[in-house]
Amino acid sequence: METTEIQVDGYEKVLRCRDRSSGLHALIAVHDTTLGPALGGMRMLPYSSEDEALFDVLRLSEGMTYKSACAETGLGGGKSVIIGDPKTLKKPDLLKAMGRFVQVLDGKYITAEDMNIGIADLEIVRTETKWVTGLSRESGSSGNPSPYTAHGVLVGLHAVAEEVWGSKELKGKHVLIQGVGAVGGRLAELLKELGARITICDINEAKVAELKQSKGYETVPDAKHLDVACDIYAPCARGAGLNDQTIPRLKCKAIGGAANNQLLELRHAQALKDRGILYAPDFVINAGGIINVGVELLPGGYKEATSLKMIENIHTNLRKVFEMSRKDGVTTHEAALRLARQRLAEGKKARKA
Ligand code: NAD
Repeated sequence: METTEIQVDGYEKVLRCRDRSSGLHALIAVHDTTLGPALGGMRMLPYSSEDEALFDVLRLSEGMTYKSACAETGLGGGKSVIIGDPKTLKKPDLLKAMGRFVQVLDGKYITAEDMNIGIADLEIVRTETKWVTGLSRESGSSGNPSPYTAHGVLVGLHAVAEEVWGSKELKGKHVLIQGVGAVGGRLAELLKELGARITICDINEAKVAELKQSKGYETVPDAKHLDVACDIYAPCARGAGLNDQTIPRLKCKAIGGAANNQLLELRHAQALKDRGILYAPDFVINAGGIINVGVELLPGGYKEATSLKMIENIHTNLRKVFEMSRKDGVTTHEAALRLARQRLAEGKKARKA
């Protein structure tokens, strides 16, 4: 087992982790622990180089700091990436070695699920470290975060409706959901219960057809979904969907969905503002899952009621973000970053006092 520290400005600790016997090559980034231990998922991807993996882990861990700061989870931001093809290299020895590296940080970094790392994998990681969250309810953990992320998006969409239409009512609003997976699928159900009109799309056409049949949603082929005129567009599939090609085509009044990193570049927040489309910053509206996981670490352990109460704050946070955006004449994305930095500054001040 060998760790090397990589010095990166603005990051508390970035570790390169190598274990010869299992073949593990991973990076752990602790961006900021001002507000609490750095919690963020562990993902495994066949990155083409360590530089590519480093870029990913740095960007993601910083994003976790802002997401948690806005959501007031009492957590900081971190992330870990395992370099390699999960199909061929994800073995118990490798996951155990990763657990030992997480343990080296002794709680400064707390891990959770992310791409290609599921609950079964985390159970193996946990044999070497206790700093693992998001395991099954049966094991006393907080379980699958996706329904809580969906609930949080719904809470956020009420704030969006208030800002655009002056009432939090979602009944009768036409919502276009891209991606009906764990989060988007649940969001569609929740919105339908409230009487919203739902149109769905997904690259998984069989799933779309099944949901049309079983739930009565309207559907559109994924390639044509931007042609649908709607009130709210809810991206719940993948990142970078808001870009130079898509923004001019949008026919919605507002955007609020679960996908991470929806803006390809920061300037796309301005492009949305220029088109008069209200954008609910992804890291504010999709915080339900991290809030739910974070509750696990509170004294007394996981309680769903606490989680649901905390998720309601997404509404207040978005109201603040929209107000700051209006008052300061900045994009909603910039306003959300300002809110996060404000909370980090308050945390730093409180720590010094
Ligand atoms: P998921 O894998 O369960 O669902 C994603 C769905 O999107 C799938 O049905 C997939 O077929 C579809 N999809 C993928 N690429 C697509 C494309 N190019 N066009 C149309 N559809 C496409 O994932 P999820 O857990 O529902 O998460 C959805 C998004 O929300 C992701 O971006 C994820 O990072 C983000 N997110 C999820 C959580 C959570 O708690 N699960 C929390 C925060 C953010």
